[in-house]
Amino acid sequence: MVGSGAGGIALSLLLARAGRSVTLLEIQPEIGGYLRRFTRCGVRFDTGYHFSGGCTNVMDQIMQVLGLDEARAADPIGNRIVLQKTGDDILIPPRSTFRGTEEVMCSHFKNDSAALHEIFDAVNSVWRDTPMRDLSDLTPPQMDISSYDIRTVRDFCASAGLGEAAAAAAGSFAMCHGSLPCEASMSFHARVGFAIFDDLARPVGGGDPIIAAFRRQAGRLGIDIRTGTTLLPFTETDSDGECHTARLSDGSCLDVDQVFFTIHPRTVGSLLPEKAVTPPLERRLRRLRESTSFFCAYYFLDDDAPVTPGLISYFSDNDLDAILRGGGPYSTGYLLGREPDAGGKMRSTVAAFRTMAPGTPAGAGNDRAARRTDSAYREFKERLSQEIADDLVRIAPELAGHLKVAESGTPLTCRDYDPPTGSAYGVRNVCGQSRLCGRLPVRNFFIAGHGALVPGVMGTMLTSFTVFRQAAGEELYRKVIRASGLC
Ligand SMILES: Cc1cc2nc3c(=O)[nH]c(=O)nc-3n(C[C@H](O)[C@H](O)[C@H](O)COP(=O)(O)OP(=O)(O)OC[C@H]3O[C@@H](n4cnc5c(N)ncnc54)[C@H](O)[C@@H]3O)c2cc1C
Repeated sequence: MVGSGAGGIALSLLLARAGRSVTLLEIQPEIGGYLRRFTRCGVRFDTGYHFSGGCTNVMDQIMQVLGLDEARAADPIGNRIVLQKTGDDILIPPRSTFRGTEEVMCSHFKNDSAALHEIFDAVNSVWRDTPMRDLSDLTPPQMDISSYDIRTVRDFCASAGLGEAAAAAAGSFAMCHGSLPCEASMSFHARVGFAIFDDLARPVGGGDPIIAAFRRQAGRLGIDIRTGTTLLPFTETDSDGECHTARLSDGSCLDVDQVFFTIHPRTVGSLLPEKAVTPPLERRLRRLRESTSFFCAYYFLDDDAPVTPGLISYFSDNDLDAILRGGGPYSTGYLLGREPDAGGKMRSTVAAFRTMAPGTPAGAGNDRAARRTDSAYREFKERLSQEIADDLVRIAPELAGHLKVAESGTPLTCRDYDPPTGSAYGVRNVCGQSRLCGRLPVRNFFIAGHGALVPGVMGTMLTSFTVFRQAAGEELYRKVIRASGLC
């Protein structure tokens, strides 16, 4: 198993529960990928798991099957969508159902309500047809192509006659997959949309409980975790088209039955034997483009700051394509939270993530140590952290004077933790281009991760279930699900 983020954690556990002997390789000194958190002044902050949809059903089922029950707790949160350009300010209260969210949207955008109903019906229909969305249903999934797979989000909204502001609000969750509505398929977009609009929740303790529970399960199931280690490229396949000897960066060798990758597809391409990277595969890998990335700014809030935990989704413009291209208009997600610090005292925080082109700021370079002493880079971060705080105070004036910057990170920071591109957030979804997922040209190699089915942590884990089902076969898959008591 290569990569120990949400995808690698899920796949390792499924394989181990199926009786396989699992070695998990992680190139970083710590496991967890974007589930990891960091501490400033005793307060924990998330890197890439701030909130989730589907916490009360799919996520719950995933945790049950994986045996990560301790990581199931989640607090429902509201989502306030603010469109700066048109002054729209829409509050979707905590515990809103999908249809409840639809009602909030329709009553705000009365002139667009017919088109909104059409969009919400489409999203609902895509979700109902999503393979594996209910893990207790053991019927083999249908992988048929639907009309939603071949129509872009923008095309769909335009033909429904949705106005610009309503389209921005109803499609605001595009920030959760980072693909352009003019390119992304309606089905990919709709899957994350359903999860976010159905029951948005904040996982208690972020990714910490998942990593801690995984460590405990890994101990019980005998998963061999090797950090600071990766695979060296395979040179050739055996006569059966498989590879059975893996050379590791620590100088050791492993006999392998199957290899599962939950890392960036381009890295996977660079590890395959040269002959396995056929021209069509090479073209597919070359065509992959990064989804949008983020500038992340983290703030402490004073003890007396009036804080309601929840998400504020701020859009400087209603053109989601322009926002996701990066460089001009932007969107910032603000996650206001409350959680005990290391001393047990309740602390309020804001984690803000503002859209930004991958590789930004240009010219700052990949060398982490050099960036630390680069004054232009430091000023860039300070200025942007202040601008992001100023935007928040404009829409939540009660927070004026209460925010203090704790930390910030650019898309370049991600490269330090998730090589080589720094984008766990993902590969852009482009209508008509199939995702690299499942069996690879080396017959005993498989690729998962990066939310091929649904983006985000939940989607990445669901993709691991799909790939495990393909690799292990129906019988073993059912055995693992049944053994969890889910059905
Ligand atoms: C800023 C940001 C905010 C986000 N917010 C949310 C959110 O609120 N909710 C949500 O659901 N999703 C969110 N996401 C998306 C979510 O974090 C990802 O979809 C998910 O974590 C991807 O998991 P993964 O296992 O595919 O990849 P990762 O978490 O990146 O894990 C991959 C692991 O593989 C390791 N690795 C890489 N190369 C190698 C190699 N060659 N050998 C060995 N190991 C290797 C990496 O070090 C890493 O540990 C966010 C993402 C970002 C960037």
